[in-house]
Amino acid sequence: MLSGKWPTLENGGSGHCNYCKEIEDNGGKSDRLNMLEQANQVPPELDKNPRATTVTPKILEIFLNDTCNMKCTYCRADFSSQWRNEIRKFGALTDLDGRPMLGYTPDHKFVKKREDISGLVDKTVDWLRRNGHQLSRLHLLGGETFYQTELDEILDVLEITGHKNLEFNIISNLMVKEERFTSVLERIKKMCRDRKIGRFDLTVSIDGLGREIEYARTGLKCDHFGKLFALAVRQKWMVLHTNSVITSMSVKALPPLIEQVKEHRKINSKISMRINAVQRMPQLHPAAFGRDFWKHDIENILNLWPADDMHDRSQRDHIGSMFSAIKNQDPDLRLVKFFKHYLDQLDKRRNTNWREVFPYLDI
Ligand code: SF4
Repeated sequence: MLSGKWPTLENGGSGHCNYCKEIEDNGGKSDRLNMLEQANQVPPELDKNPRATTVTPKILEIFLNDTCNMKCTYCRADFSSQWRNEIRKFGALTDLDGRPMLGYTPDHKFVKKREDISGLVDKTVDWLRRNGHQLSRLHLLGGETFYQTELDEILDVLEITGHKNLEFNIISNLMVKEERFTSVLERIKKMCRDRKIGRFDLTVSIDGLGREIEYARTGLKCDHFGKLFALAVRQKWMVLHTNSVITSMSVKALPPLIEQVKEHRKINSKISMRINAVQRMPQLHPAAFGRDFWKHDIENILNLWPADDMHDRSQRDHIGSMFSAIKNQDPDLRLVKFFKHYLDQLDKRRNTNWREVFPYLDI
């Protein structure tokens, strides 16, 4: 990056930055760009030498494990135990040419690797115990974070060591039992009060509202989500965010979510919303249906999108550029065929019917 090139394999790098690269190449706002806007993410070494490459980490993101109670259509076996079980039971998913899709086969190497990470968790907890005071942010992800036993282990460490400036963030799908949800929140609230952490952020993953989203995120029940979300909105001591993934299945379901967040902002004005397009699943990306297909939906979303602060306005611009970056005006027929082929396979396994939920996508 210092020589103006992404560290891709072709450029002699590790390729580990491709996730952000793909988002930026598609006109999106990557984690890399988001981090640049946060002052407390700058390692102190860079104050003296802006080109330093051995620096104190300021943010730690931990994917605790893959235990998840959902199997979102754009997720895969690396991240969700539900997905892993389904692939083991029914076998690989195939592409249009009948070839197994990378990451969707029972012998995918990440599936095996994830089963043997307990040693890594111990090392991470130990690192956190010794170095946590130097971090600005700690993010926990899954799977579903509230269902992971390691969550309690991390909370134990934070309670003992106490990092009064640390911003602690949990990412959750909110399909959690209410008792577990409220008891973890109560524990974290006490940690904030006792200055064991500086701030708590809850980032809820939700792509829209309605039956389209219950299909796209298999296992989601909007009623339950809505109940816990409303409960979180009333917890003004914490900072609440929504994080949405845009796919062809979520575009028309986004407006009700925007309306709901606007309504909740009357109670808690600090709820932020963030959006990104699905990555590495071109068949699910709205681009498969072409720019014109979504014209009215995008106008509607941009009109509804709040403009209460800078973050709102920058996300609004980001959504606009995400859709104007779609190069094809008309549907890409091969990708649309792949979209149907992919969902047909899922329907057989899940006893669902995407054509009933999304008649407008059956073109
Ligand atoms: S909730 Fe998250 S980890 Fe679970 S299936 Fe959905 S995207 Fe994957």
